[in-house]
This record gives sequence, structure tokens and C-alpha cells, in this order.
Amino acid sequence: MNELNPSARILLGPGPSNIHPRVYRALSTPVVGHLDPDFLKIMDEIQEMLRMVFQTKNRFTIAVSGTGSAGMEASIVNVVEPGDQVIVGLNGVFGNRLADVVSRCGGEVIPLTADWGQPIEPHRVEDALKKHNGVKAVVLVHAETSTGILQPLEEIGVMCRNHSALFIVDTVTSLGGVPVKVDEWGIDVCYSGTQKCLSCPPGLSPMTFSDKAMHVIKSRKNKVQSWYLDMNLIESYWSESNRVYHHTAPVSMNYALREALRIILEEGLDQRFQRHLENSHYLIDHLRESGLMPAVDAAYRLPPLNAIRVPENVDEMAIRKKLLLQYGIEIGAGLGELKGKIWRIGLMGESSNKANIVYLLHALREILKH
Ligand code: PLP
Repeated sequence: MNELNPSARILLGPGPSNIHPRVYRALSTPVVGHLDPDFLKIMDEIQEMLRMVFQTKNRFTIAVSGTGSAGMEASIVNVVEPGDQVIVGLNGVFGNRLADVVSRCGGEVIPLTADWGQPIEPHRVEDALKKHNGVKAVVLVHAETSTGILQPLEEIGVMCRNHSALFIVDTVTSLGGVPVKVDEWGIDVCYSGTQKCLSCPPGLSPMTFSDKAMHVIKSRKNKVQSWYLDMNLIESYWSESNRVYHHTAPVSMNYALREALRIILEEGLDQRFQRHLENSHYLIDHLRESGLMPAVDAAYRLPPLNAIRVPENVDEMAIRKKLLLQYGIEIGAGLGELKGKIWRIGLMGESSNKANIVYLLHALREILKH
């Protein structure tokens, strides 16, 4: 067996994104024990920086050990009990996955569907809350990576509060790339992933829970079905006063996340959001010049994930393959209903820069010419 040596890639797909050298260096820092005082301090620092990135004061703000799907599963298994009614926005792959998790918990899914590539209109959430009495939670995907839609959230937290429902939001592709204002928007449970706009390797799921959500979780009638993701147990590992062993934290990944968060806060959240927005505009404006059109209306476009229509009579897979093998650039294919119809060009975190875009535009033009 040869020494590990994967090809260098420019990651412009739906994630993972490219990683800053400082984060790679953090990964190679010697491992200490997961209860070592040095590591406990690192956990505190991660919590403090995650609060800033999620724009929340929530005490229970942590990094769950596992990818974004672990955060998704954790948010649902902790809140939903058999028979609970849960409103779920269904307009892409990840809304569908959330509905699947809700039904696996014995919850009753109240679907709010929209065409793939369209948002869930906020007034429909209010209508559904009025129609169904005693809804436990409303679940929406902020940045639907499968379609490139940015879901408006601002008004929905108040609707949930007025109907005593918890508001659960997936920010796997938005956190660190577009504003996510957990407290201002009244979000009760919010999860993300490390490998997108946070530009860290995949493996952790940053999460934050409001006190209200924690109260609901602590007052459950039944035990949480998942032992590993039970926040009643995980809380005692992450709380400053307790630090009881629950599982062996992925120490190196936490080092990496700490450094990635430091980089984000050094850049400044507003500056980072502006960079993602400007680079998305730059990409789309220049793609138009080559006749390649965005698939999503400007009002709902997601700067970290740009959905572009595949032109008629073009073998989209062949083009992606050439980009990867001849130019070392990864872009994403369409998923589900959009398979073969769109490309998904990610401009997330470290990957979101002009040099990458100029190189991609050049490579695409050369390939399309032939
Ligand atoms: N939610 C969204 C919006 C995603 O884009 C993804 C992954 O692409 C996930 C959840 C699942 O995350 P992971 O693949 O890290 O488990």
C-alpha cells in the first residue's frame, strides 16, 4: 500500500469546502484526553465562539460528535415524541430527510410542500399552525443545498412562539456564509455542519438549544430513543460545572473547529457574509455571459450554493468529470427531481474567492467550446 496521497482539488461543490492551512495545522496538534483540563478549556472556547457565530446567548451551544445529519437527528429525536404533530417544509432533499426522521420518532408529519427551487411562504406556516391545534414544532431548512434556495425565516419564530411550538432550523449550508440570527429570529433548535461555510473537515455538528427547547427535552414523557444523541446525557459532558464522561469526544476535530471559528471571527461575520454575496454575484454575472443561467429567482438565491441550469443537449456529467479530472475542480450535480437539470456550484468559506471563480469560468468556457 502506498502512502496516502489524494489529488489536490478546488472544492466548489455542495461541500466539503477547502480548508485553511491553520485548520490543517490544528488537526495535527497532539491529542490529549477528552477530560483533560486543557481539552475542557477548548470545549468552553468552542462554545463561546459558536454562540457568536450562531448570534445567540443560548447556554447550551455545543458541537455534536457527528456530521450534519447527526445534528439533524439530534434536533428531532430530542424534541419529538410518538404522536407529536410536526410541521415540516418539504422543498428539497433535506426537508424530506427531516420528515423521515420525524416519522421514525413516531411523530405525525404535517407537510408544507413547495416546488423544488421555491421557498415555503411564511404565511403558510401560520395557516398550518392555526389549522392544527397543539403542533409541537415547525422544522425548516434555511439553506436547501439540493436546490440553492435561501428560506426566509425572520417572521416564523414569532408565529411559533404565538402557538407554543418550537422552531427547529437546519443551517448546515448557511452558518458562516449568510446571516443566521438564532435569538433575533426566535429559533429554538439550530444545527449545522463543519464542512460547508465553516471550512473545517466534516465530522462535527454545531448545535444550539434555547432554554425553552431544553425545558421541553427535560420534561419528555419518554426517554430519547437515541442514547448517543440524548441531550439530557450530553449536557452533563458539555456543562461547565459537571463534565461527566459521555463519549470520547473527537478531540482533533474539536481542535480544527476551534481554529476554523477563530478564523471566521477574525474576518468578522458581516465581512464574511459580504464576501460570500459578492462572489456569488460575480460568478452568476460571468456565467450569464457564457449563456449559463441561474436556476433560482434572485430573491431566494443562496450565495454559498449557486444552482445553475444545465443547457439543453449538454452531457452534464461529462462536463463535471472533465472539470474534476482535467482542472481539479469539483462542482455538484443536481439531486432528486433536479438530477441532470442543474449544477450546484458551492462558494463556501475558504472556497469562496475570486481566483477560484476566474479559474472555474475559464475551465467551463474551454470545456463547453469543445
Ligand atoms: N442538511 C443540509 C441542508 C445539508 O446540505 C446536508 C449535507 O449536505 C445535511 C443536512 C447533512 O449533513 P451531513 O452530510 O454532514 O451529514
